[in-house]
Amino acid sequence: MTSASTAGVVVVGGGQAGFSVVSTLRASGYDSPVTVLAAEPHLPYQRPPLSKKAHTDAVRAELVPESFYRERDIDLRLGDAAISVDTAARTVTTASGTHIPYEHLVLATGARNRPLPAPGAELDSVHALRSLDDALTIGQALTTAREVVVVGGGFIGLELAQVARARGAQVTVVELADRLLSRAVSPQVQEHLRERHEQAGVRILTGTAVRAIEGTKHVRRVVTDRGVLPADLVVYGIGAAPRDELARDAGLAVDDGVIVDAHLRSITDPRVFAVGDCARHPHPYAEGLVRLESVQNATDQGALVGRRIAGSTPVPYTSLPWFWSDQGDIKLQIAGLRMNTDDVYLATGDSPERLAAYAFRDDRLVAVETLNWPAEHLAARRLLEQSAPVCAADLAGSTLGALTRARRAAGVGG
Ligand code: ADP
Repeated sequence: MTSASTAGVVVVGGGQAGFSVVSTLRASGYDSPVTVLAAEPHLPYQRPPLSKKAHTDAVRAELVPESFYRERDIDLRLGDAAISVDTAARTVTTASGTHIPYEHLVLATGARNRPLPAPGAELDSVHALRSLDDALTIGQALTTAREVVVVGGGFIGLELAQVARARGAQVTVVELADRLLSRAVSPQVQEHLRERHEQAGVRILTGTAVRAIEGTKHVRRVVTDRGVLPADLVVYGIGAAPRDELARDAGLAVDDGVIVDAHLRSITDPRVFAVGDCARHPHPYAEGLVRLESVQNATDQGALVGRRIAGSTPVPYTSLPWFWSDQGDIKLQIAGLRMNTDDVYLATGDSPERLAAYAFRDDRLVAVETLNWPAEHLAARRLLEQSAPVCAADLAGSTLGALTRARRAAGVGG
């Protein structure tokens, strides 16, 4: 607990990570001033529905109502972005010209879409998806679009491809790499995913580059190095880059993200923390520093920093990373980090819809990808969080659900 006389906490960013910081601060009894600078005009909202529900009203999902902030004396400033930080004076300057003092600064600035490097990307009806406004624009465009080209076969692209199919459009995914989701899932799982998308009527072109998008005002066609695709709507999701320029301009260490230590503190200035998509940090599940883009990471990092500033005993960030992606009726879930893994072992569940891929590093289970199998995903999270390692022999021919039951019966683990 801190005295009410300090300058308090300024959080830059009104997304999931920033929200997690401020809600945790107040839940932990912090009673000094708390300010959130949010660039967007909307109350902080959930981002996952943007690409999964762009075609329905469920796309709008505020994290909490406005009264939450009022009742907790959280000064939420919508539409007023931070434009500079003076780490010596400990002040933040906002776009409206306000100077706000801080005792602790938390950067929760998120990431921005990589722009599409093709002529014609500026035409009307070419859209990227990051904000609620983007999702509303795409949702509207989908009410009339007949031929949709999705550029990028990652999480956002594949989710949007299914949203467009649900609207009845012809959909083609154009992916530069020779397979889908190369950053996120094993080749084995991507093969199954690809089949399922194709069965749902999505055409997928991998190893294909967009040369140009053509049209006068509106899009007419997309020229690729393997042919021309008629299109009246182009959406793209080709990865994101951290918004770290505020930190860089303030003289903080930055390298594709704000560099922080295991406690999520800037390695340059201990009064500054960074959380969520914009932070590059050490992690026990990774080799070297990582930057993770997920709701789990944003929420857990925000909570860790909130508790720390409120006075609880400092602990390093060690949360198990997990991710999910809903692509039509395909639910992809990932527990752990797959980097530098050797073997992948596949299991199918009691229905053909279910699949799990177990990835090992040095004969230790480090990541589990599942399709339409939430129970196995939850078993994976529990087992990966325990210190008792799972090796390939423990699993051979079985599943983590079965292994958990066997260990419980033998009185090992939880
Ligand atoms: P996002 O969060 O935007 O979905 P991902 O990293 O999950 O990000 O996926 C981005 C996908 O876009 C990757 O599969 C990557 O290979 C692909 N990609 C990157 N650049 C291009 C490009 N110029 N054209 C098509 N696909 C691209």
